[in-house]
Amino acid sequence: MLRNSLLTRRFVLTLAVTYCAAILPCAELSAEETAPLKALIIDGQNNHGAWPKTTMMMKSYLEDSGRFSVDIARTQFTWKGGKLLEQYPLEDGKSYTDLPQPKSDPDFKPTFSNYDVVISNFGWKAAPWPEETQTALEQYVSGGGGFVVIHAADNSFGSWTEFNEMIGLGGWDGRNEKSGPYVYVDKEGQVQRDLSPGPGGNHGPAHEYQIVVRQPDHPIVKGLPKAWLHTKDELYQKLRGPALNMTILATAYADPKYRGTDRHEPKLMTIDYGKGRIFHTTMGHDDVAFSCVGFITTLLRGCEWAGTGEVTLTKVPEDFPGVNETSKREFES
Ligand SMILES: [Zn+2]
Repeated sequence: MLRNSLLTRRFVLTLAVTYCAAILPCAELSAEETAPLKALIIDGQNNHGAWPKTTMMMKSYLEDSGRFSVDIARTQFTWKGGKLLEQYPLEDGKSYTDLPQPKSDPDFKPTFSNYDVVISNFGWKAAPWPEETQTALEQYVSGGGGFVVIHAADNSFGSWTEFNEMIGLGGWDGRNEKSGPYVYVDKEGQVQRDLSPGPGGNHGPAHEYQIVVRQPDHPIVKGLPKAWLHTKDELYQKLRGPALNMTILATAYADPKYRGTDRHEPKLMTIDYGKGRIFHTTMGHDDVAFSCVGFITTLLRGCEWAGTGEVTLTKVPEDFPGVNETSKREFES
């Protein structure tokens, strides 16, 4: 039985290779073009308790695309991981201690330069990294590395100047008018930079909301529908920051019915920092938000763009959400 199945697999493989070599241009791709991009997810301390699961969801999405290989670097002292740490273990032979409060990990020193793209799944109140690690991230990104910021990762490290430049906009953790303007899009579609005093970052109750593309020619959103309905999620608003070299790719209308600002808030952004590229999504409050096909699609494209400056994952999934209809994928670990 085993031998039969092996033979069948070998036959199918032979057919596939023959077909590929004869007809498809894939035989001409160089090793560099076909090698997966190396991605590193960093996590360990996040007020959003779903983080051990959402890290694994991202790893799975990225690897299943065939475009990425994924490693995870986690602080040895974790926070708010709870039972999900046992349900979604790293199995990397290292020991982790979940603490009642975030605590700095003096040994958190990932080698960012080994990767094409680094994805932050840290969150609000994450304890400061060693200075050496902060400098390493700054040098990695300014030297041409890719960095991706997910939801509450823009709550972290409010007083780290260079981090705030990398993320463009952020919220909470002491952010206010001194952090930079509140940036939004007005009813005429113009980007506004509001310098009036006030705290950075808030949101109403989670709800489904429409994502509207503002830069349809940008590779991350090119070919996607102009608008789609995102699954139930928090709608971050009143984010503040330096917002230098930042492009708003997509917004969502913050409806006063959900304590919204009555403005169009940035949802997907890119930032240039030195030679590096940053993709920032403010979506992703929990595993439900992470299961939205719109979130998954823009995450994959955003990671590829941050890592290379291009997007080859251009196919729009058949289960992409509609303008008034959400679409989710079940996640099985
Ligand atoms: Zn949240």
